[in-house]
Amino acid sequence: MDTMNNLVEQIKSENRLLLNTYIEEYINGNKTLFTLNPDAIFTLDLQGHICSVNPVFEHLFGYTTEESMHMKLQMLFPIESLKNVYHYFQKASFGQVHNFDSILTTKEKKKLHLNITMIPISVNDKIVGITIVGKDITELNKKREEVERIEEFHRVLTDNVLDIILSTDLSGKILYVSPSCESVLGYTSKELIGEHLSILFYKDDIGRLFFTREKVLNKLDNVRGTYQLCKKDGSIIWIESISNPVVETGTQNVLEIVSVVRDITERIKSEEELWSRKKAFRQLVECSPDAVVIVDDDNIIFINETGVRTLGALKQEDIMNRSIFDFIHSEYLSIAKELFARISNGVTTDFFECKIVRFDSSVFHAEIKGLPTFFQNISAQYIIIRDITERKRTQELLLNSEKLTIAGQLAAGIAHEVRNPLTAIKGFLQLLKPQFKEEAYFGIIQSELARIENILTELLVLAKPQELKFEQEDIYSIIEEVKTLIDTQAIMNNIEIKFISDWENLTTIQCDKNQLKQVFINFLKNAIEAMPKGGTITIEIKSLCTEKIKIIFKDTGTGIPHHILKRIGEPFFTTKENGTGLGIMISKQIIENHNGSIHFWSDEEGTIIEVILPIK
Ligand code: ADP
Ligand code: MG
Repeated sequence: MDTMNNLVEQIKSENRLLLNTYIEEYINGNKTLFTLNPDAIFTLDLQGHICSVNPVFEHLFGYTTEESMHMKLQMLFPIESLKNVYHYFQKASFGQVHNFDSILTTKEKKKLHLNITMIPISVNDKIVGITIVGKDITELNKKREEVERIEEFHRVLTDNVLDIILSTDLSGKILYVSPSCESVLGYTSKELIGEHLSILFYKDDIGRLFFTREKVLNKLDNVRGTYQLCKKDGSIIWIESISNPVVETGTQNVLEIVSVVRDITERIKSEEELWSRKKAFRQLVECSPDAVVIVDDDNIIFINETGVRTLGALKQEDIMNRSIFDFIHSEYLSIAKELFARISNGVTTDFFECKIVRFDSSVFHAEIKGLPTFFQNISAQYIIIRDITERKRTQELLLNSEKLTIAGQLAAGIAHEVRNPLTAIKGFLQLLKPQFKEEAYFGIIQSELARIENILTELLVLAKPQELKFEQEDIYSIIEEVKTLIDTQAIMNNIEIKFISDWENLTTIQCDKNQLKQVFINFLKNAIEAMPKGGTITIEIKSLCTEKIKIIFKDTGTGIPHHILKRIGEPFFTTKENGTGLGIMISKQIIENHNGSIHFWSDEEGTIIEVILPIK
């Protein structure tokens, strides 16, 4: 055993000798390679003793050459790496070169990442030691780890965002698509990679797609776009995309185009819905039969068509930006201001009646209601203006017809009660005539009695409208007859009655002659009464069409003031001391019974009454 040990020791020391000679020759021969090498180089004998180290080794591990000479291989490695290191060391001692990465520890117990190469040293075909070249990869490793970390971060990001990240080559072939494509489009990444981008696009948008890609390549900048894509199941979604070129560093060569794609279907849908709701609302307002004005403070910021017409303007612009108070009659201004202040404070008001002044300064009755609203994102007042002229008129008419019924009932009573005593008085008066000393008094009594009779006749017409006797009558001769009847009275009042007709042919109309005469007499009498200083009455017949004629009575009298014009035709409305206030009302009724109509115009120059009658 001892001899064996001795033999081993002898081999060892022989080997060591050879190694030392090798090292001496090698280091001297390759001084630069060994000393100035950027990597740590050290040699070991086959027992793992360190035999030589270069300056980089000293620097990296912190041991001096002196110290190293007393160290063994294992002192440079942490325990967990040793198994590996021994394995390679053994292989190297059998002549194999090995390269591996490992962690080593310095004198200060700092960890180093080295890439280790073990190279066997053979002298005279005999392996006598091992050279180890250690390349410091601590920094490199750090960088690699950093890259891995970034890559992982990107992976997590692209795998988990809802947007799709898509990369294509210049021809449009899909190189990469993030897994989110499955939830958005129904395709898996695998199904899409390698396909041409256009398979995803709705046919009408493909042209635009190519145009956008062209722009990305030309501008070398990102380009946005909105498109429709086809899902795997055939349905269509809206997307928004930003596409960026990936340019090779230092050149202008585009390597690929990377796009971020976002599903905006919901957004588009809700935008469309909002838009159509807005449109519907606008239409509702635009087509409203009421005038709608939207006001900010008192400034008009919107008015609908009806509003433009109601206020008598030609176009919206005439009214926009004017104060709403410009259109409110001064009588109502202070109430209106109060009302608007309340609407501004968020109160919805009830309809309130006021007068509105149109563009041309004419005035009409209206109802106004206001409610707070939002218009173009600002709080404003929504004002409804309703023209109630028509309603007022109907109300007045209703009131009139009520008065008429009462008048009718009254008239019937009066007519019956007064007529009989009147007949008696008239009879006895006739008997008394010879005894009258003063002719004039008799005349007065007689004429006053005649007046009472007149009133009674008119009242009777009102009480029970006589049965109409419609016959074919010549309107021309009816008027001639009336004219003859009235002429004497007219001449006495210094009045001339002119009769003009635009056609000579006989025109017969279907009418009750006596009733029409009554109407014309009423008008002519009124005209005479309106001209105390004389004047002219013109009667004119015009054919309107083949079905209607128009008869016009024109006087040069005092005219009818506006406030009276509104009231004429009301039963018992008169401005005359001895008037009955029944003439026009009865005339109206007669004309209406003939399916005709009457219109009045009047100013300081006189009055025009127009009667329209159907021929049949
Ligand atoms: P009366 O003649 O008894 O007053 P009417 O019904 O005939 O009753 O007329 C009503 C009122 O209409 C008159 O009182 C008068 O004020 C006015 N009027 C009618 N016709 C004329 C006219 N041609 N010119 C001026 N005023 C008129
Ligand atoms: Mg009269």
